Amino acid sequence: MSMTEAGGLRGRRCAALPGGLAVLVAAIGAACAGPESTLKTGIVLTAARAYDGFGEPVVPAVIYVVGDRIAGVGADVDAPSGALRIDLGDATLLPGLIDAHVHITNSFTNEPDRDADTGVVGASTAEALLLSGFTTVRSLGSRNFQDVLLREAIDAGEVPGSRMIASSQGLTDGLHAAVDGDRVAAGDDPANEQDIRAFVRERIEGRVDWLKIFASRSSRAGGTPTYSLEQLEWAIDEADRAGVSTSAHAHAAEAARRAIEAGARTIEHGALLDESVLELMIERGTYYMPNLYLSEYYLENGDRFGYTAEQLGWTERLLPPRTQVFTQAVQKGVAIVFSTDANSGWVWSGDTAIEFDRRVAAGQSTKDAIVSATSRAAEALQIADIGNLVSGYRADVIAVEGDPLVDINALRRLLLVMKDGEIYRSPER
Ligand SMILES: [Zn+2]
Repeated sequence: MSMTEAGGLRGRRCAALPGGLAVLVAAIGAACAGPESTLKTGIVLTAARAYDGFGEPVVPAVIYVVGDRIAGVGADVDAPSGALRIDLGDATLLPGLIDAHVHITNSFTNEPDRDADTGVVGASTAEALLLSGFTTVRSLGSRNFQDVLLREAIDAGEVPGSRMIASSQGLTDGLHAAVDGDRVAAGDDPANEQDIRAFVRERIEGRVDWLKIFASRSSRAGGTPTYSLEQLEWAIDEADRAGVSTSAHAHAAEAARRAIEAGARTIEHGALLDESVLELMIERGTYYMPNLYLSEYYLENGDRFGYTAEQLGWTERLLPPRTQVFTQAVQKGVAIVFSTDANSGWVWSGDTAIEFDRRVAAGQSTKDAIVSATSRAAEALQIADIGNLVSGYRADVIAVEGDPLVDINALRRLLLVMKDGEIYRSPER
């Protein structure tokens, strides 16, 4: 049986506890651990230590959850004797992690029209991300609104998965010609205001949460700027009017500068950013969403992705500057957010948190790495009640083996995953 049934709120039956967890649980007065009992009395999680969304210790390391909300933290826990008690032992309790850049429906098949295929891939990816501790993810690119449909299925409880923020297909030169893009170079007219605003409105009518724009070419094509400042302004203004924030894929400093000046809230990748753009990000309060590990993954799996030697050559050349820009951003105090760009296969490994290891190796403190994937990520994504351990917040809680402040790779050793008060992973899995 799955822990969804044991600890769940929408559980269909009052199931017995799984053997592995039963050892750790003292369910006083509860004939079963099903939703009917824990909905009222709640669940008390205890461990050797706990850190909040600012990387600060919670003492004692106790979190009390009732229904889908946190009902008490640390010394403020006042749980009834009937509450379900789960002691995780030598583990660390943390807010559920947030990955601000994933591609949830991508697979290696590379056949864009196979909606059923991408639907299945998306559902399995969403579950893999959740089970690896990511209770919230932002999907930045998915064809045919597949990520929006998946988000709705997860919210409705039809499939297990991370809470999703979805952008669907982004604005790219391939769809709407950019002033500096390849299609204009080939003789096409650049997209005008009407084209670009219509594209954004179509996203909004398709119920996206965020707008994604490709302000530069891919890293596999050198990352040079595409859309003009004016074209970016049309898109971002149209999104702003609907209360939708914008994420800009941008490698070259000039591409990022245009996107920031046009009002993008988050800059993705940024392998070629310079000092002045990092300073502009601080000045404007723009969030930086780099990704370090993905290049290694592409280099290892280039043939499965169908990348050419020339494309992989670019990936390899941009790896050192990617890391240098990251280190510089850390030193300057740019608001860095955890984001992997994970897709096709990497997600299914359940080890997207390897990105933390590369970031800490490049100079980020373990404490800031935790903040970047919890409270700061929630702030960047504008979700008020996640990313911290506070009474009244959504009960998104994970437990990892060991202490991530000492060894960041503890975040890759998940013991428990709770989202909205429901337990999806327990020590037995
Ligand atoms: Zn991406």
